[in-house]
Amino acid sequence: CLHNGGTFAPLDHWPGIKPDVAIQAVPDDERVWVPQAPQVGFRPLLFNTTTGSWCNLLRVRKSGELSRHIHPAWVTGYVIKGAWRYLEHDWVAREGSFVYEPPGEIHTLVVDEVAGVPEMITHFNIHGAMVYLDDEGNHTGYEDVFTKIEMCRKHYHEVGLGADYVDQFIR
Ligand code: FE
Repeated sequence: CLHNGGTFAPLDHWPGIKPDVAIQAVPDDERVWVPQAPQVGFRPLLFNTTTGSWCNLLRVRKSGELSRHIHPAWVTGYVIKGAWRYLEHDWVAREGSFVYEPPGEIHTLVVDEVAGVPEMITHFNIHGAMVYLDDEGNHTGYEDVFTKIEMCRKHYHEVGLGADYVDQFIR
C-alpha cells in the first residue's frame, strides 16, 4: 500500500551520512591523475567503502596497456574521449560508447594502432575487485577500493596535494 502524506527528513538528519559529490571530472591539475602503469593513470571520483565499489576516470595514452585481469563483479564504462579496445574482443570502444563487462570477464585494455588515437579517457564504475592474471591464469595481484585509496594517498602526498586530498572522494 502507499503511505501518503509523510515527510522526508533532510539527509543531514541521519548521522554518519556523508554529503554529495559534485566535482569537475577531468581535472585541470595534472597531479590529480594517479599513475598506475606506464602511460596509464586514473582520476578518482568516488570510493564507496560500504559497497566496495569505486568510480574513476581511466586515462591511457598510446601505447599503454592495463594488464590482463578478471572482474569478479560487473563493470560499466562510458568513453569520454578517444578510443580503446580489449585484446580479447574484436570491438573498439570509441568516444560516446557505453561498455558493460559481466562478472567473470577477463581482458587486457590497450590503446594501440587499432584504436588509432593518442589518448583515451573513460569513466569506469567497478565493484569488488580487479584480480590480475598472468598468461596461464594465475593470480598475480589485485586491486579493490582500499588499495585504490592507498595508491591515491601515497601519490597525493608525493605530489604535494597532501595524503588527505583523497578523503573528499571517500564515502
Ligand atoms: Fe577491466
